[in-house]
Parts: sequence; C-alpha cells; structure tokens
Amino acid sequence: MSVTTLAAVAVSPDKPFEFREMELLPPRADEIRVKIAATGICHTDVAVKEQAFALPLPMVLGHEGAGVVEEVGDSVTHLKVGDHVVLFGDSCGHCKSCNKGVMSYCDEFAPRNLTGERMDGSTSLVWKGEPVRGRFVGQSSFATQSVASSRGAVKIPNDLPLELMGPLGCGLTTGMGTVMNALKPPPGSSIAVFGVGTVGLAAVIGAKFSGCATIIAIDVHPHRLEMAEALGATHVINAKKEPVVETIETITGGGADYSIECTGVPEVVLQAVNCLVPPGWCAQVGVTPSGITAPIEMDKIVYGRGIRGVVMGEANVSNFILYLAELYRSGRLPFDQFVKFYDFRDIDQAVHDSAGTGEVIKPILRMS
Ligand SMILES: [Zn+2]
Ligand SMILES: [Zn+2]
Repeated sequence: MSVTTLAAVAVSPDKPFEFREMELLPPRADEIRVKIAATGICHTDVAVKEQAFALPLPMVLGHEGAGVVEEVGDSVTHLKVGDHVVLFGDSCGHCKSCNKGVMSYCDEFAPRNLTGERMDGSTSLVWKGEPVRGRFVGQSSFATQSVASSRGAVKIPNDLPLELMGPLGCGLTTGMGTVMNALKPPPGSSIAVFGVGTVGLAAVIGAKFSGCATIIAIDVHPHRLEMAEALGATHVINAKKEPVVETIETITGGGADYSIECTGVPEVVLQAVNCLVPPGWCAQVGVTPSGITAPIEMDKIVYGRGIRGVVMGEANVSNFILYLAELYRSGRLPFDQFVKFYDFRDIDQAVHDSAGTGEVIKPILRMS
C-alpha cells in the first residue's frame, strides 16, 4: 500500500527547498520502507542542489538518513519491521568491488545512486500523478518516509541514539575509513588533514585512533581548528594566516608521511601533495565539479609522492558503520560534539549555517 511522505525537494539552485506531500509507492522485493528519524546534511547534497555537481533536478536529496524499518520487501531477510537502520547507498551486490565488500566502487554505483531512479528508470515518489526523482544514494532521506535499497541499510542496536546516527552513513565513514582502510598510517607517523569539516574531523579522530604521533589540521575557520584540537590534532594551521606547506615541513621536520584532502579546491590539492615527505601518500576525498583540474608538479610525484582518490573510506560499509556505532558508544568517536540539530522545516537555514557560513559543522534534521 502507498503511504504519504513529506519531502524537501531540490528544485533549482536559486530557490529554497520545496516541501511537498507526496505519494510513496510500496517497497519492491529487495527494498524497505523506512520512517526517517533524522538525516544529516552532507556537502554533496548542497553541491547537487546548487548544481556544482549537476545531477538532474527536481530531486529529493539526502543521504545520511537514520530511521525505523516499517515495511520490508518480499525477498528481504536481514531486516525486519522495527529495526533501527542507518542508510548508506545502493549497490549491485555481485560485481568485483561488491564481492570485495567495497560497495562504493560498485560498477553500477552512479546509475543506482545518482540518477534519482532505479535501474529500470522507475521511482517510488509520485506528486500530482507524476514521478519525482528520489532514491538519491539509495535513500533520498530529506523526507519523513523513504523507500530505500535493503542492501544499503545497516541495522544498528536499538539503544543507540537513532537521531544522531545518520552521519555514520557518509561523513564519518568517509573520514575514519580513509585513514583506517586506505592510508593505514603506522603508529608514530605524521598526517596532515586539509579541511576539518565532518570528514576531516573524523579523519583526525581516525588518525589519533591509529596512533599517529603528529596530526596537523588545516582550515580557514578558527572554530573548526579548535574542534580539531579538542578531538586529537596535535597542531593546527590557519591557511589564511600561515604558509601551509612550509609550516607542515617545520612541524614534521621535512614533511608529512600522509595527507588527506577534503576540500576539493585545486590549490589545496597541490598543498596536500607538496607537503608530503617521500614516500608519501595523499588521499583525495573532497569532490570537485566535473572538468576541474589540478596542475600537479610532476617532479613532486616522480620523487616518491602519490595521490589517489578514496570514496566512502573504502569501507565494507555495513561492517564499518556498526564498528563506528560501537566506537561512539564507548566514547572514542565523540562526533556529537560537532553536530547541531534542526527541525526538518528549517533545512534552508541548516544549509546556510553549514555550507554557507561554515558556522555549523554537521547539521542534522529531525523529522518530528
Ligand atoms: Zn555525503
Ligand atoms: Zn556492484
């Protein structure tokens, strides 16, 4: 049976989100219907709405949803009604990357998560008799109810604070996973984190957790640098006030062993490569609009420095989300320190306060 969902629809870059009561069709065999408790807002949502990342609009965005399963499709066996879930995206379940457990590199990642439609071109959202694009990152969580991919849902223990858990599905997995699964810095090593929003702060926590001796956070917002220090950064650099590469070389006595670039700004990408001591790796995590290039100095690369992209922390996301949830429980992933809750209706304000002014690090929308 169809239900009604209240969704915030991204219609165009220069208009506020449009709230629409829509019909939500029942889940198909491999899908679930989730009552969204809360959802984080990630920079990618904003980039799509503003068309820096030009996906087709109108679309219901949102990809850090957490909620309660209210209906399961006929072939879903690992979830049941009443389960608390964190949503993270759809995958095919049988390509090489899926078989390795790294669903973010699924052959069908883009068509399944970024088109706003299922593989057959259908959608579960209907407004005034017309289909509306949904299923963004398998979920479209800017809505009170969502039909989501069951493969993109992980059950978490019911005693964890559900409204807080959504960002485990993207920002925290990305930051922690990039350190712990992709870079794997040995204890005692040095790491520079460029851009300490949610992903960068999670990377700082991951670096501390990995035993990095020197953790350098770089940003232009003083309050973000303070937060990075509180969470484990041993040094901070305000890029507006200090020469970044030279300061990192001084702190580390030659250069950082590892770096993580979370901003996607070409000039910062160069800094993240040039600050490395050979052999050193930079993980490129920040997303840029397509067509943007960074003129990397070839002699830096030839001489033992490398850069590679990392998506969703190269995690086996189902396992990793559960792992992070337990780290939160034990106090070792205190991301509640940089979260601010908003009512769902205040989504435009939340976007303004985070992506706009940088004041708020991780906004979470409460649905009720
Ligand atoms: Zn995201
Ligand atoms: Zn796949």
